[in-house]
Amino acid sequence: MAELDNGEMIACRVKGKFRQRNLRSTNPVAVGDWVGIEGAEGEWMISEIEERYNYIVRKSVNLSHESHIIASNLDKAILVATMKSPTTFPTFIDRFCLAAEIFHIPVAIVFNKVDLLDRDERHVLSDFMTTYSHIGYETIACSVITGEGLDQLSAILKDQISLLSGHSGVGKSSLINAIDPRMNLRIGEVSAAHRTGQHTTTFAEMHRLAIGGYIVDTPGIRGFGMVDINKEELAGYFPEMRSLLPNCKFYNCLHINEPGCAVKKALDDGFLSPTRYNSYLSMFNNDNEETYRT
Ligand code: GDP
Ligand code: ZN
Repeated sequence: MAELDNGEMIACRVKGKFRQRNLRSTNPVAVGDWVGIEGAEGEWMISEIEERYNYIVRKSVNLSHESHIIASNLDKAILVATMKSPTTFPTFIDRFCLAAEIFHIPVAIVFNKVDLLDRDERHVLSDFMTTYSHIGYETIACSVITGEGLDQLSAILKDQISLLSGHSGVGKSSLINAIDPRMNLRIGEVSAAHRTGQHTTTFAEMHRLAIGGYIVDTPGIRGFGMVDINKEELAGYFPEMRSLLPNCKFYNCLHINEPGCAVKKALDDGFLSPTRYNSYLSMFNNDNEETYRT
């Protein structure tokens, strides 16, 4: 389906030549692409795809070296996280941020269900949010129950194309319904794609918001999927570490236990968040199957 400038939706086929041009991708046209169409009523064809501003890809699980472009031209990557019911762990948040850095998409982190937190937990969350806002990531504390933060969330969604991710059960559908009641997304339902595991085709859906803008939803993927990255490059995708790297004594410092490491010094001096450094280590050590899986 393609949407015309006037908002009308039309069904289109893809012109044959694209099928060859982008050989390594299993899909020539992705959700979010700006396309040119030609033809006539009933037989529209996509004849042109504008250069993508950014895109997220998923490698196929087999070894065919093909990748699947999940979505393109995203203004924002929003992660909905919760401190409890369910718990979103910092390593998951940081893997999401890493993938967004790699794909060149600005990050916003929405901490939902804050109505469930007591005063102490609220303080912990507030400190945690400060860590991310200092890095340059937008953060919002939200509750669908009390309405807290929903205006802020509307403001960051308005007129933007936003990828919305997060564990199942964190309240993604509830938040969108609260902002746009017409949407009427199913709440508390585990999608069929989720249940059948990783061999399902990954796809994205785009929903238009009444306030302006679109939500891109990727059923069946909790975050971005896998991203490939060298250990040597990893620290460069942590924005708060990036500026420290030239100060390490060794140009090939991996920031583990080398002498004269500026990253370790910043950690010791309290300028680098221990949870962020811990995520760095966990990704670096490749110590579980989920490394780089976001
Ligand atoms: P999704 O899987 O991320 O789309 O999550 P849902 O929107 O389906 O919500 C999962 C459950 O969390 C539902 O039972 C919601 O009613 C509940 N929920 C959503 N937002 C909030 C919130 O802000 N506070 C509380 N206490 N529960 C919420
Ligand atoms: Zn170092």
